[in-house]
Amino acid sequence: MDNITFERMNELIRILEEASYDYYVLDYPKITDQEYDAYYRELETIEKIHPEWVLETSPTKKVGGEVIDEFKKIEHKIPMLSLGDIFNEEEIIDFLKRIESSNVHSNYVCELKIDGLSVSLHYEKGVLTTAATRGNGIVGEDITHNVKTIKSIPLRLKEPLDIEVRGEIYMSKKTLATINKERISKGEKPLQNPRNAAAGSIRQLDSKIAAQRNLDAFLYHLPNPLDYGIKTHHEALDFLKKLGFKTNPNNKIVKNINEVMEYIHEKEKIRDSLPYDIDGIVIKVDSIEDQQRLGFTARTPRWAIAYKFPATEVLTKLNNIIFTVGRTGKITPNAILDPVQLMGSTISRATLHNEDYVKAKGLMIHDTVSIRKAGDVIPEVVEAKIERRTGKEIPFEMITNCPICNTKLIKKEDQTDYFCPNNNCPARHIESFIHFVSRPAMNIDGLGDRLMEDLYNFNFIKSIKDIYKLKDKKEELTKLEGYGEKSVNNLLNAIDESKNNSLERLLFALGINNVGKEKAKILAKEYKNIDSLSKATYEELLNIDDIGPIIANNVVNYFSDENNLKTIEELKQLGLNMTYEGEEVNLNESFNNKRFVLTGTLTKLTREEAKMLIENAGGKTAESVSSKTYAVIVGDNPGSKYNKAKQLNIPIWTEEEFLEKIKN
Ligand code: NAD
Repeated sequence: MDNITFERMNELIRILEEASYDYYVLDYPKITDQEYDAYYRELETIEKIHPEWVLETSPTKKVGGEVIDEFKKIEHKIPMLSLGDIFNEEEIIDFLKRIESSNVHSNYVCELKIDGLSVSLHYEKGVLTTAATRGNGIVGEDITHNVKTIKSIPLRLKEPLDIEVRGEIYMSKKTLATINKERISKGEKPLQNPRNAAAGSIRQLDSKIAAQRNLDAFLYHLPNPLDYGIKTHHEALDFLKKLGFKTNPNNKIVKNINEVMEYIHEKEKIRDSLPYDIDGIVIKVDSIEDQQRLGFTARTPRWAIAYKFPATEVLTKLNNIIFTVGRTGKITPNAILDPVQLMGSTISRATLHNEDYVKAKGLMIHDTVSIRKAGDVIPEVVEAKIERRTGKEIPFEMITNCPICNTKLIKKEDQTDYFCPNNNCPARHIESFIHFVSRPAMNIDGLGDRLMEDLYNFNFIKSIKDIYKLKDKKEELTKLEGYGEKSVNNLLNAIDESKNNSLERLLFALGINNVGKEKAKILAKEYKNIDSLSKATYEELLNIDDIGPIIANNVVNYFSDENNLKTIEELKQLGLNMTYEGEEVNLNESFNNKRFVLTGTLTKLTREEAKMLIENAGGKTAESVSSKTYAVIVGDNPGSKYNKAKQLNIPIWTEEEFLEKIKN
């Protein structure tokens, strides 16, 4: 951080105060929670370095909420606080160490952090008398009239107690979707997210509106447990349940960091399938005596902390939209983004599929856009942040000519994609060669996209057969920048080995329209060698299960083209196998049926990619280390799993060792 100045501190305070107003009063945030949290952390850092600058009214010193005048005010006898935030395993370890260094040896309770707003409920002789928002922590808003419309909050308890209980009011994902559909159809602004939707709904003056919003609540806190003879937080949760409150079924007692991490990983996996939004988990000291000993800061309890999940969506700038040409000639617009970190990888590019897709999203060049990883792997542009436009954005325009060979593009009726019709378009050639050597096709290791482009541009490869003639140009190849003798030898060996591939790989590699990996296998199994397949008739092909008229037609067309037959003949002469060799066994002995755990940050792969490689090699991955773990793969800054592996004498592999073994 290089701007540690008094001016920056004041600027951050202004940004955070403005954001809090939008968030807590208007229920319409203009910045994301991640941006808010980053500004907040920056302010905390400046204040730590310069304690003499810290203002009494700093956002780090108070619970960030406002009390709206329209509501009656209710004072909280015990302040309603916020929670400290942490974002990674190291910070969780620090939190637990801090607790344990205060001589606390209690268990912990892990809970889901429900993305709603907190509420305090007062009952007299078992009857609900008042309900209040957290407000600024000291004074909240009286929302009793609206809380009475929430079906899961009992108006009368199972025991006639005088009691205060606290919890979270939330709106389910389904309710939010239904309400927003209706609002959009009426031309109204959609509610932004379940948290702000719940807050907006509960702070309605008219309780009929709140009733329609179908709110719900989980209760998770008893401010005075000792008054009821309760000595632990988990007993308090049981007590709340017995009184008739809804408590969350995911609450769990845990003993140590490993169990906390296990809980986090489990809940990250079920997060999307929960009917309500969560934005993290809360870790609380279980013993009430210890809680009281640890106490509070002005803003947060010292005995609890919120671990926030990494963002699944981030904002960045759309710097440009460029067009690429695929091997079929298909034109694809691609978003060129300001590089941004998302779920462990840097994203700088995302496909925009086609013209209709870009237009439906209304994207303009220089827009601020939100990016999500679809299925955790492929980055996707979700939307443009229209409210952040400056007027300098440039409208998107579809190109009319091929960006490579300048041929006029064509678009078939009823189709969304444009195509370059030039069969000799260099881009189509390069893409078809890249496809030919790719892992699911001929699987030639070391011949990546960049090298293929170089080999094309320097005239080494102008047709598929040239790939297999590269060995005659070994000397020239070693003179290419960045390619030494060793890498050239490895490449030539990989090319040579690929000649033995079974027929289905070659069929897929040749790029017959619509013949994907699976269909190639079916055809190879059926015809056993390329000569029989090349003579197959349309009717014969149609008789095969899973081969429909489009593929049958494309196969017949492919083998009636003189150029294609010539290519196949040349490849045959060069020694490529043209027969089906039976099911390929793809399992790697170091991985097959074995269980692995990953910890720390990998530098060459994302975690998802590493997991995929392990699974493809027949192995399994697990979140925690146990005696069943075969090896632990360790990246930078490994967490507690590394220590556990050492304790249990489980082999530890570095990322390099892992990659070496997976290659075999
Ligand atoms: P918080 O949401 O980070 O955590 C505290 C709250 O968690 C509690 O008050 C409670 O309501 C809730 N909670 C949910 N489940 C719980 C459980 N099981 N046990 C205990 N508490 C539980 O803190 P906050 O002070 O409410 O809000 C601050 C956060 O709000 C910021 O970190 C930021 O993410 C967001 N914010 C965003 C903007 C914006 O402009 N986008 C502005 C202000 C605040």
